[in-house]
Amino acid sequence: MKNITVIGSGTMGNGIAHVFAQNGYHVSLVDISQPALDKALATISKNIDRQVAKGSITEADKTKTLANIKTYTQLEEGAKSADLVVEAASENIEIKLSIFKQLDAICPPQTILASNTSSISITKIAAATKRPDKVIGMHFMNPVPVMKLIEVIRGYSTSDEVTQLIMEMSRSLSKIPVEVNDYPGFVANKILMPMINEAIITLYEGVAGVNEIDTVMKLGMAHPMGPLQLADFIGLDVCLNILRVLQDGFGNPKYAPCPLLVNMVTAGHLGVKSGKGFYDYSNGGKELIISERFRKKELV
Ligand code: NAD
Repeated sequence: MKNITVIGSGTMGNGIAHVFAQNGYHVSLVDISQPALDKALATISKNIDRQVAKGSITEADKTKTLANIKTYTQLEEGAKSADLVVEAASENIEIKLSIFKQLDAICPPQTILASNTSSISITKIAAATKRPDKVIGMHFMNPVPVMKLIEVIRGYSTSDEVTQLIMEMSRSLSKIPVEVNDYPGFVANKILMPMINEAIITLYEGVAGVNEIDTVMKLGMAHPMGPLQLADFIGLDVCLNILRVLQDGFGNPKYAPCPLLVNMVTAGHLGVKSGKGFYDYSNGGKELIISERFRKKELV
């Protein structure tokens, strides 16, 4: 498998394209937006410059990596000769089902179709195609060039052979794949999101403030970042969506999102991307400043 098509050139897509290209694969990067493709190439180039500056790769590697990436705005052009497609388009079920339906018609019958979705059922995506045995989850972590893990998600019908191929291919990218079954949130978000939700509930109940909660988890559990800061980084809207997927999928009230999280998303306080969440990023995020709303516990 040498020809890889990556669909979506946003935060995750550019990182996935970078990692495949750096490991010698030919990458077709597809996005409906030309500006998104231009931005992705600029980001990849900047991230490779960082690797060159650190001495982990050479200038010649940079040239080779960039030469391995071609960009397309038309799905058919970018996907028609793919051995593997990794879809990393926006987290929206209609968008993903439509992409997989088109891929099924465009790609040769042996092409493996993978999704980087954080929360949508691989079994549901696979059911939109006539090759559910060749549909699988490849859940990369952000930032892709840095994070070692790939959660490899077997849909209900994914074959053993396809799972093994994707496990091997993940290792060829110097990543560590972990095989999991397709249930809501897979493993990463089934464990992470309830922890983030519990941190928000702890704040909401007035047990402790933002700084106290994050400090306990950083220093006490050796987490590199507290759960509230992590929620801001992921995006509070994304956290809320994933909690809803867990709540609907398992029908268990333990996943019910904290009303404070619901209010913050409704108010447009989405974390880093909107400039405000549990922390205030209006200074560019250089210093960790608690949002005014949370400076006094009784205001919660
Ligand atoms: P993003 O919003 O940064 O990028 C999505 C890109 O998809 C955009 O450039 C958009 O133009 C493009 N797009 C939308 N519809 C398209 C279509 N029909 N065809 C081609 N391109 C299309 O999103 P992201 O954060 O990179 O997330 C992408 C996927 O990765 C989602 O499924 C998300 O759940 C998953 N994911 C995200 C993270 C993260 O930390 N951001 C981590 C793991 C997994």
